Amino acid sequence: MSKYGTIVIKIGSSTLTTKEGKLDIANLTRLASEMAEQLKDNGKKIVITTSGAIVTGAEKLGIRGKLKSIPEKQAAAAVGQSALMRQYEKAFEIFGLPVAQVLLTREEVSDEQKRINAYHTFKTLLELNVVPVVNENDTVAVEEIKVGDNDRLSAYVAELIKADLLILLSDIDGFYLKSQSDIPFKVEEVTEITEEIRTAAGHPSTQLGTGGMITKLQAVEICSPAGITVVIADGREKGALAKILVGDKVGTIFHPQGKKQKGGKV
Ligand code: ADP
Repeated sequence: MSKYGTIVIKIGSSTLTTKEGKLDIANLTRLASEMAEQLKDNGKKIVITTSGAIVTGAEKLGIRGKLKSIPEKQAAAAVGQSALMRQYEKAFEIFGLPVAQVLLTREEVSDEQKRINAYHTFKTLLELNVVPVVNENDTVAVEEIKVGDNDRLSAYVAELIKADLLILLSDIDGFYLKSQSDIPFKVEEVTEITEEIRTAAGHPSTQLGTGGMITKLQAVEICSPAGITVVIADGREKGALAKILVGDKVGTIFHPQGKKQKGGKV
C-alpha cells in the first residue's frame, strides 16, 4: 500500500493531444480509469490539473494550425474548457465519480485570503469524493496574473492542499542525463537538484528537445520544501500511472528536502 494519500496528477498537453492535433479522448479515458480504482478501493484523494483546453477549442471551432493572438487562444480555451470537462465527466461517470471544474490564476494561489478560500473548496470536494479538475483560467489570465504553465500551477495546487505526491505526466518517461560517452540515460531517483541536472533541463546540447523540463524542475522546487514528492512519468505508457499510485517506482522520483507539515491536510 502506497504512503501517498493525497495526490495531484498533471496531465500535459502532449498526453492529451493526438498526432492529428485533436483531443486524445482515448488516453484521457484510460488515465481516468487507472485513477478510478485507487479512488474507489483505496480511499485516495486525487486532484487533476489538465492541459488541452486550447487544442479542444481549436478543434471545435475548426481552426487548423497554431493560433496566433492571445485573445484567439483565450477564445479557443473558453470553447474548449467545457468540452474538455465533458470528457472528464464521461470518463469518471462510468465509475460513479463526479468531477468539478476549478479554474485558477496566480491570484488564487498567492493571495492569502484567496488561498484559504480555494483550500476550503478543495477540502470539501475531496471529502465529497469528487475529482477536482484544475486548469488555468485562460479567459481572464493575462500575463500579470498568469501562472503560465501547468507544471508550476500543479505544484502550487499540491502545496496548497498539502498533497503527498505530485505526478507530472509527460511525453517522456522521466528525467534524462547524458553519460560521459554522450549516451542519454534515465535518472531514477533525485535527492538534490544539482548543477548537472539544471543544465540537462535547460541546455539545448542535451539534444532532448525544447527544454520542457525547466518548468518541471521549478515544480520540484515549489514542492520539495513542503515535503511533497514529485514523479515525472510517461502519460502514454499503459499502467504506469496505476503503478505509481500503488507506490511502485516508475519514471523519475524527486525526493523532497522538506518535512511534511502536520495538520490542515485536505
Ligand atoms: P508536457 O507538456 O507533456 O509535460 P514538455 O514538452 O513540457 O511536455 O516537456 C517534456 C519534454 O522535455 C520532453 O519531450 C523533452 O523533449 C524535453 N526535455 C528537455 N530536457 C530534458 C531532460 N533532461 N530529460 C527529459 N526530457 C527533457
